[in-house]
Amino acid sequence: MLLYDTVISARDAVRAKDISAVELTRAALARIEEQDQLLGAFNSKDSARALIQAKAVDDGERTGPLAGVPIAIKDNICTSWGTTTCSSKMLENFRAPYDATVVRALEDAGAVIVGKTNLDEFAMGSSTENSAFKITRNPWDQKRVPGGSSGGSAAAVAASRCCGALGSDTGGSIRQPASFCGLVGMKPTYGRVSRYGLVAFASSLDQIGPMAWTVGDCAQVLNVISGHDRKDSTSVRDAAPDYIANLEKPIDRLRIGVVKEFQAIAGVDPQVKSAIDAAIKKYQSLGAEIVEVSLPHTDYGIAAYYIIAPCEASSNLARYDGVHFGHRTSEQVNDIVELFSKSRAEGFGPEVQRRIMIGTYALSSGYYDAYYNRALQIRTLIRRDFDEAFRQCDVILSPTSPTPAFKAGEKTADPLQMYLVDVFTVTCNIAGIPGISVPCGFTSGANPLPIGMQLLGPVFSEEKLLRVARMFEATTDFHKRRPVMDIQASVE
Ligand code: GLN
Repeated sequence: MLLYDTVISARDAVRAKDISAVELTRAALARIEEQDQLLGAFNSKDSARALIQAKAVDDGERTGPLAGVPIAIKDNICTSWGTTTCSSKMLENFRAPYDATVVRALEDAGAVIVGKTNLDEFAMGSSTENSAFKITRNPWDQKRVPGGSSGGSAAAVAASRCCGALGSDTGGSIRQPASFCGLVGMKPTYGRVSRYGLVAFASSLDQIGPMAWTVGDCAQVLNVISGHDRKDSTSVRDAAPDYIANLEKPIDRLRIGVVKEFQAIAGVDPQVKSAIDAAIKKYQSLGAEIVEVSLPHTDYGIAAYYIIAPCEASSNLARYDGVHFGHRTSEQVNDIVELFSKSRAEGFGPEVQRRIMIGTYALSSGYYDAYYNRALQIRTLIRRDFDEAFRQCDVILSPTSPTPAFKAGEKTADPLQMYLVDVFTVTCNIAGIPGISVPCGFTSGANPLPIGMQLLGPVFSEEKLLRVARMFEATTDFHKRRPVMDIQASVE
């Protein structure tokens, strides 16, 4: 473990000179160097650059609310140094010409970026097994997946290679890996955080957000990365509130919604169910009122998501043709069309190809109305469902994922099984609302696995969501547990 493994404890320790930023960065880098082979959390790191950044903090040249804190970045977020691969052969050697706005913001706040983390190729997946380079293992049980698609970011924090990380969430990719790795992870409202420099998967659903051990850590990182950016026309103009200022203040007369239709969802692990029930009781004991709400179009969420996201992806990924962007075949070709198709067949992995085909099919003439337009209609209905539900409650509480972390290889043979994992998370992106996953329990057994609960709120309710999450965290200990991976010798 790092001596200071949370964002705020590291920041305060550096500030108080209990440890230097260089020492802290060295410790994080050493852990990546010596132990990441097995875990596979990182795609790349730039130690020399990180140490220069850290030294500048120690010399008083770099200051700010994250000064000296080691942070990792998902490898689909552009940095002007090193590569931005999206864990795809297509972009294996891609060097972005600029920094994403969030990267600039982190560095302006003094953060030390230690490396870029593994993901499902182009963020398509729920286990990080779709990376073209390697799988990432879950620090709590290395036979299991860390979740996805931000699995590298989750594993990196959980295994103490950094204090916090950025992920991206299109259908659950921050919240689900956070829940699998015992972390807090937040998907902000669409438009709250700039997407400039995030490699697009599904532009109307994508959002960047923080992953860390505590609610306070996420609030701190969100403070730094949120706000208007004129380089992203979808980023909102009004100033973001200070998410830390009132974090410790409990919400009076809190109304927590539990969703009637969620009770009927099949395949929810009994241990997840009982952890969620216990969380509901905990909130009751803190004075919250529990109300049953209805989201009548819950059943259509996965279907709508797995049309809308692939449609947008098929359009966004058209730019990777070996000419404008990405891998170019070295084989002999007769014309430009063959160049495109060979390059794309070599550069994209099977899941990405599947999404492009689904999206292209659903957008093609004759099918557009039956699939894409239909999915957009469902999108409107799902949005209305939430509007209606939030008239009766402040936040909605559910599991983040139906199960704890599953075994590597368990769901790779059947893409549908992998898609169904997202049942609780995708509607949040479809509606554009914020969601947070918070540790709420552990499974019993020899290798206890973290369980996460999801809290959803109306658009721009991040401040309230964080406070509600903090109320729970302040009276529980789940966020204090750490994996014992240092003594897990090896993987069979
Ligand atoms: N698991 C979902 C998918 O495969 C969500 C991914 C994401 O949020 N990036 O599309």
